[in-house]
Amino acid sequence: PLGKGGLKTVADPNVPSTKPGELGSFKGGLKALPEAIAAQLGDRLKLNWHLTRLDRTERETYIAVFSTPDGQQEVEARTVVLTTPAYVTAELLEPLQPEISSALQALTYPTVASVVLAYPVSDVKGKLVGFGNLIPRGQGIRTLGTIWTSSLFAGRAPAGWQTLTSYIGGATDSEIGNLDSEQIVEQVHRDLSKILLKPDAAQPKVLALKLWKRAIPQYNLGHLDRLQQVDRGLKSLPGLYLCSNYFGGVALGDCVRRGFERAPEVGEYLQQQSDSRSI
Ligand SMILES: Cc1cc2nc3c(=O)[nH]c(=O)nc-3n(C[C@H](O)[C@H](O)[C@H](O)COP(=O)(O)OP(=O)(O)OC[C@H]3O[C@@H](n4cnc5c(N)ncnc54)[C@H](O)[C@@H]3O)c2cc1C
Repeated sequence: PLGKGGLKTVADPNVPSTKPGELGSFKGGLKALPEAIAAQLGDRLKLNWHLTRLDRTERETYIAVFSTPDGQQEVEARTVVLTTPAYVTAELLEPLQPEISSALQALTYPTVASVVLAYPVSDVKGKLVGFGNLIPRGQGIRTLGTIWTSSLFAGRAPAGWQTLTSYIGGATDSEIGNLDSEQIVEQVHRDLSKILLKPDAAQPKVLALKLWKRAIPQYNLGHLDRLQQVDRGLKSLPGLYLCSNYFGGVALGDCVRRGFERAPEVGEYLQQQSDSRSI
């Protein structure tokens, strides 16, 4: 199919087809995606380069100032695509375009912890077949929901073990950010014991815990007006593009789709600039 902007996206025949709404991942986990992109980019990829300032020049270019492990570096470019979260982009664009900055500052990112625990299957009440469970607020259970990771994806647990990825926190529970890792694991274990586990289930193996202080942007009332304000502001900054999860969906698939949509827009802009310079 032709994506927006005319870019042809051809499905890789090695990738299994999925039904709409069906979850998917990579055999070795999600890190496969950034690793594959890094391999394609080679030494064009710069890691630990922190963008600290963006200036516009009279030559209609941008100067991006980075703090890097080798000291400050400046890059001049005709186009810049900012994929940073809204609160970072707001700060960077404050001097250039306060209208965009104020719209982005209004976006909230609640705190969420992602907790990956493993239990012997003998501690689980029944065989878990399916995606997972969401827990409505008001049930007296703090955990938001659990993905039955090893039921969903192959190779996520050795035989005899069940891996469960739970999420806790969110817009109605900012207090989660004040707990330490042990308290968060204890809370999730207590909640799982009320739903999925046998009452005498042993303490889990903790495979991973990540507290996302500012996790996912909320599309609150007024979000579309804010995005329109951003679009208006961008008109005065030709060559600058924003491509982040506060536009049109937070799911990873949406982020990838947006990348495919933005790339040809940037290409067309550069082409137009080259054409007008050669006249
Ligand atoms: C807990 C959690 C669970 C999720 N679960 C799912 C799920 O099951 N399925 C799904 O589809 N999606 C899920 N999502 C959503 C999805 O992961 C995100 O929306 C997506 O990864 C966002 O991608 P992004 O590139 O827009 O932003 P990010 O991945 O946040 O990337 C922004 C990057 O900008 C960098 N950065 C920040 N400031 C600077 C600076 N000044 N200079 C240079 N770089 C900077 C950051 O280091 C970061 O690497 C989940 C998200 C969270 C937090």
